[in-house]
Amino acid sequence: MSMNNQGRPTRSEDVRIQDIGTKGANATFTGNRALILEEKLIFESGSIDRTGVDLPDIPDAKSRLGGLERSETIGLPGLSESETVRHYTRLSRFNYGIDLGFFPLGSCTMKHNPRLNEKMARLPGFADIHPLQPQESVQGAYQVIDELATWLKTLTGMPAIAMSPKAGAHGELCGILAIRSALEARGDAREVILVPESAHGTNPATAAFAGYKVEDIPATKEGRVDLDALVARLGPDVAGVMITNPNTCGLFERDMKKISDAVHDAGGFVYCDGANFNAIVGKVRPGDLGIDAMHINLHKTFSTPHGGGGPGSGPVVFSAALEPFAPLPFVEKQGDTYKLVEEENAEEHHAQSFGRMVAFHGQMGMFTRALTYMLSHGGDGLKQVSEDAVLNANYILRSLEDVLDAPFAPSGYCMHEALFSDKGFAEGFTTLDIAKGLIDEGFHPMTMYFPLVVHGAMLIEPTETESKEAIDEFVGALRHIVAAAKSGDAKLKAAPHHAPRRRLDETLAARKPVLVYKETQDAV
Ligand SMILES: *Cc1c(COP(=O)(O)O)cnc(C)c1O
Repeated sequence: MSMNNQGRPTRSEDVRIQDIGTKGANATFTGNRALILEEKLIFESGSIDRTGVDLPDIPDAKSRLGGLERSETIGLPGLSESETVRHYTRLSRFNYGIDLGFFPLGSCTMKHNPRLNEKMARLPGFADIHPLQPQESVQGAYQVIDELATWLKTLTGMPAIAMSPKAGAHGELCGILAIRSALEARGDAREVILVPESAHGTNPATAAFAGYKVEDIPATKEGRVDLDALVARLGPDVAGVMITNPNTCGLFERDMKKISDAVHDAGGFVYCDGANFNAIVGKVRPGDLGIDAMHINLHKTFSTPHGGGGPGSGPVVFSAALEPFAPLPFVEKQGDTYKLVEEENAEEHHAQSFGRMVAFHGQMGMFTRALTYMLSHGGDGLKQVSEDAVLNANYILRSLEDVLDAPFAPSGYCMHEALFSDKGFAEGFTTLDIAKGLIDEGFHPMTMYFPLVVHGAMLIEPTETESKEAIDEFVGALRHIVAAAKSGDAKLKAAPHHAPRRRLDETLAARKPVLVYKETQDAV
């Protein structure tokens, strides 16, 4: 196969059929490899003039669309039901998920989702209800929302909560909109939000989306927010700060209370990105650190499946100062019944609400899963989850720091994730090569090139449910791959060798996906 100068297949080659069983000494007639079956694009196996269903002839009726009806076919492939089922089942076998093996993705915690969660979320009383049903017919669902809200307020030590945001980034927007409303209510138009260099990309994006100017705060060489630089920047134009704690270097921001006090003294608000709350549940209450608003990624901290665009849920807890501005609707217990507080009845403490984040209540399925997880672990169990997640991450940090550069390891323990750099690799070898090598060894790669404060970053989060044996196997594989990267082993540079696909041109795959029926492909 010819390669361009980056060692990637060129466009002229058919990257879709390379390697799986079709080339070399182990080639098979079909391209299948034992019971792992090669799969064509659905546009290649289906045909537009075929259909999987028998429809009656179109009646000879006059169209009521007044000339707006479609006049040409849109080129969707037609397949029978069994062909369709096989197509997606085969593709699913190329997929890697948390139920197959170790998934060391840092920052975006990928933890085991206990099956009990699924059983509860599928109970018809939760799964089959409609948000416009009469309130008296969904009291159980409201009770779940309210009990989960109580758990989250208790665990964070915060007095108020908005349950409706649908993911972490949506929660950030909710928090920043509440901050803006609070500032506007006191006639104080501030323009700047400060965000540390190591922040998740959603933080500056949220602040900018809400109309703020974003300014970076530098990190110390220990990987934490530079308190002095932050304090020096505070002033009457700063609306607030957005700080992730534990941060995206996997470190606890020890100065958090000092930061909050300084921001409050300067008239601003403190937003905390709580995506990493799973490292401190039951150990630290963010409310005690002076935080005004924090989202919780239910889908990271409290299990529940996610990834691949799956459902998220990002409730936001608020301080007393921001409580009046929290979004509607609210579920509130009044006597023995749960009532919905909406625009028409939002007297007193909800009257200053900035509005709504979504039409209804949020992600009911995720609420049910998260509450199930909490009730099955109990308060002590949740604390143990955090401790085990931190223990596993530190085990990884200490098992690899002699072969991989761990820039922040000298400053002590990490939290739930361990961060390494690409320092010491042979000329031309990068973090990407490590990731591809891991695929050959049967592991999903770690998070790479994030956070940006470390060169060629590798961010590894084991989560709490991995056994010592599973982690040891991963560590063994990674040590082996790192040795190859340090010695400049050409075989690693060409990895993966055993995956259904070799290295693709990732830019081309993202920018020019082949999504159309082949005959119309060039035209689109
Ligand atoms: C995952 C994550 C987010 C965004 O959360 P989503 O639910 O994916 O929108 C924000 N910040 C950090 C640190 C994260 O890990």
